[in-house]
Amino acid sequence: MRALHQILTGTLIYSTQRKKDLPPPTFTDRDLKEGLRRSWTAELIGHLLVKYESEWYADEALSKWNEIDDLFEEEKQQQKALIEAGLDELGITEPYLRDFALKMVDEAFKYIQTNWKIEKAQRIKPSLWWKQVAQAQAQNQTTSTEQSDANTPKLSNLSADGKAWFIHPVAMIDYFPKSEILFQKGDKHEIIREINIRIAGFGGNVPTDEFTERTENMIKQFQRDYMQVEETGVVDIQVIQAIDRFQDEYSIDSFFTQARCQCSTFKNLTEPTCNGFGLNKTNNGKTDTDYAYGIEYPGLHRTLFWVLRSIMFYIDSDERCQHLTVEIVSSGYRCWADNIYNNRKSTNHMGKALDIHVIKKEKSKSEHSRDERINCCDLVRDILTEKTNAEYRWFHSNGIALENSYTRYHPTRGRDNQSIASVWVHYDVRVFESKFLKNQFFVKTAKDVNGKYLKELVKNLGS
Ligand SMILES: [Zn+2]
Ligand SMILES: [Zn+2]
Repeated sequence: MRALHQILTGTLIYSTQRKKDLPPPTFTDRDLKEGLRRSWTAELIGHLLVKYESEWYADEALSKWNEIDDLFEEEKQQQKALIEAGLDELGITEPYLRDFALKMVDEAFKYIQTNWKIEKAQRIKPSLWWKQVAQAQAQNQTTSTEQSDANTPKLSNLSADGKAWFIHPVAMIDYFPKSEILFQKGDKHEIIREINIRIAGFGGNVPTDEFTERTENMIKQFQRDYMQVEETGVVDIQVIQAIDRFQDEYSIDSFFTQARCQCSTFKNLTEPTCNGFGLNKTNNGKTDTDYAYGIEYPGLHRTLFWVLRSIMFYIDSDERCQHLTVEIVSSGYRCWADNIYNNRKSTNHMGKALDIHVIKKEKSKSEHSRDERINCCDLVRDILTEKTNAEYRWFHSNGIALENSYTRYHPTRGRDNQSIASVWVHYDVRVFESKFLKNQFFVKTAKDVNGKYLKELVKNLGS
């Protein structure tokens, strides 16, 4: 039970209960059901070795099964209390109506109890073979000791008390390759590129298939901050599973929907509108250097959304930010038609940038003062510079870039008054080298942001 508790509270309710000084939260049957629904918690539960009385063993009186009888009574009383409360709320006071409702509950439970009695007598009782076999084995052994010779292996007996170890045989196999190193510094593989994309928010990285020093540092940070295990800097099956869990734990689906280009909703637009991700147009025939990077990429860069996941994670786990939440992606894709409509020159948002709004959890955006909103965003900008090594403006290469705000900007290069993002957080991958801005990294669906689970991808390794 302690191990189960650990699994459920350590993973399922992980994000809300990360504060280390708190005692672990309690768990309920609902948490257990939820845990079994999710593949990665179900897998952890499947790894438990449990010593417990067999269901094929019980005493003559079926006492352990009879304990369930009382639970029916308890549940019935709870149901009745609920119904009475409901009747009160509806203002139904007539005794005959109330009695009728409660009688229905009695009848329903009588039916359930009758079935349960039949189940015990006709299904459970005949299946209790354990004790008989255990007794026969014990007898057999005492009578046959004199004939046994050294070559005959001794059969182990079923336990007399009906207790046995329960082991999930498939899950058991997983124990063996556990500490095996799948990837380490110097390696090169497509899966490494996936890892470089998926935990880019933990230190920052580009989508290369090489396992670089940055990859190693990223994995160490991910192990330290997300997994809360010893840092090894290598990829083993636990890291693979944890990245899949990170993906499940922080859904970006609704944010992706918000990030589509909105141009088709504009009225009186003469330009052809796009379907959410531009029309593959390049700099609209203009030669101005401002337009030099004005390519409409075929989607949004995957790294942006994996960084968004890490923002959500760090907001949850960093005590400075636990009162915050990502409210919305206010700007994602903005195609040329959108730019022309808004008389805007910037081309970052043609697939390489996101603007997000961050607010306090306890109130709606409109209830925030401007200063409060700037403050919320500044905290997230700090998270991005500290945890993702993002830098203000675009003087670096191959990292995450931030647009400066009134209060946060590059300490030596100052601020750029042309591009002030204060009440939203703008981050982008504009300074990625062109090979990391190839079409393959730009996607049109949240599903393609995610890709296949790493667990699935590593299955074919070494074969
Ligand atoms: Zn558009
Ligand atoms: Zn922006």
